[in-house]
Amino acid sequence: MRGGTMKIGPRPSFALPFDRMPEECGVFGIYNHAEASRLAYLGIHQLQHRGQESAGIVTTDGKRFYTHVAMGLVADVFNRPLLDDMKGRTAIGHVRYGTSGVSSLVNAQPIVVTTSRGPMALAHNGNLTNALLLRRQLEKEGSIFQTSSDSEVILHLVAKSSARDLGAALKEAFSQVEGAYSIVLLTPKTLFVARDPWGVRPLHIGRLNGSFVVASETCAFDIINARLVREVKPGEIVAIDGQGIRPIAQLSSTRLAHCIFEFVYFSRPDSRIFGRSVYEVRRELGRQLARESPVKADVVVAVPDSSSCAAVGYAERSGLPLELGLIRSHYVGRTFIEPKQAIRDFGARMKYSAVADAVRGKRIVLVDDSIVRGTTSRKLVRMLRRVGVKEIHLRISSPPILGPCFYGIDTPETKELIAARLSVEKIREYLRADSLKYLSLGGMLKATKMNPGDFCTACFTARYPIPLRTNGTIK
Ligand code: AMP
Repeated sequence: MRGGTMKIGPRPSFALPFDRMPEECGVFGIYNHAEASRLAYLGIHQLQHRGQESAGIVTTDGKRFYTHVAMGLVADVFNRPLLDDMKGRTAIGHVRYGTSGVSSLVNAQPIVVTTSRGPMALAHNGNLTNALLLRRQLEKEGSIFQTSSDSEVILHLVAKSSARDLGAALKEAFSQVEGAYSIVLLTPKTLFVARDPWGVRPLHIGRLNGSFVVASETCAFDIINARLVREVKPGEIVAIDGQGIRPIAQLSSTRLAHCIFEFVYFSRPDSRIFGRSVYEVRRELGRQLARESPVKADVVVAVPDSSSCAAVGYAERSGLPLELGLIRSHYVGRTFIEPKQAIRDFGARMKYSAVADAVRGKRIVLVDDSIVRGTTSRKLVRMLRRVGVKEIHLRISSPPILGPCFYGIDTPETKELIAARLSVEKIREYLRADSLKYLSLGGMLKATKMNPGDFCTACFTARYPIPLRTNGTIK
């Protein structure tokens, strides 16, 4: 009988068991390329928007792994000599953003382990909803966890499985986990790819001449001239090795639950996800917003960069000119050096600047993709008033956010979500906008031009399509 033991690679410290793990991630994989480490670097660099706290790459030459995982941005974590030392024709990569207590290096990925089936490296985008329950069971049976990451549960399940081969062990493990996962898993000979049966997070397969590539978003293919072949199907487990690419298992669920927030905010507009162009959907969100909530104004202004596409759509449909009334600095670090004499809205002012000459004396439609705590909008309204904007009509290209995400988008707890506490009118008062309108749920779903029942809209409805199990009970 196989399994039972698992040794994890060197880890800097222990962390507490997880509860909810708010995290956002991007994954990448490449099979059979002479420059695997460099292409993995470019791939995760393109996915940087999906996670800015840690970055990691594992390569293999068919015998051993070469690993580099560290806290920081992709460009800061890697350099040329380091990548050149990472040998082999196959690689996986990961970018991650987790919050506070759970964001340390101990949880950075890929996770590298040694099991009785050999070494494995895993990179995961998403969040498992029954991870805590499974972890408690595994710990009772003797498993010793080294991280507080839900992803480690998968590796323990695989390590303990008595299935005849690794493919069968993966199927067994994935049949036990619930929630969101888009995963690349590396062994010395095979690159495995898996996506949860609800299809929550995107995952794609591409070709680059004789190589196979895998990425959360297709923008990671474009930079290396890879061609999109298809999505990994919801519930599909795929093996890529010397024999080519082949599906090895298909898990089922009663419904699909694609994350609508990927279209609203998270994915890059030059990507295709769930079979649709993010740019097209986002622009249609803006058009729909203009249809639902027109207003007498002089210009449309986007909150850059995430709402630029929606603002294009709003301007197009309303016939109002689009002005670059706000610009965003791309050089803001995580911590600012603030002068001792406090400056009001300092954080927002480091990030955004009003272009006074574009908006002074005007009535503006300020388009943003979402309001979470209300902090950004309140500061932007104040900033725009300060430069002499006459009226500010805030238009949001998604509905009010009512619940946290348990499937892999970093949102705060319900009590911090402004729309979970206040009515739209009260929010408008708090933001000091002249008017405030959100896109309707139906309007948002219509803009995708996909089957509305195939989406998870939990952040807007607080109705969770995948059960949230913590201690065996459903939350
Ligand atoms: P807030 O200031 O808390 O209301 O956040 C709203 C702003 O954050 C909007 O401009 C959004 O584009 C952006 N945003 C929305 N969701 C997220 C997220 N999960 N992570 C980071 N920023 C976000």
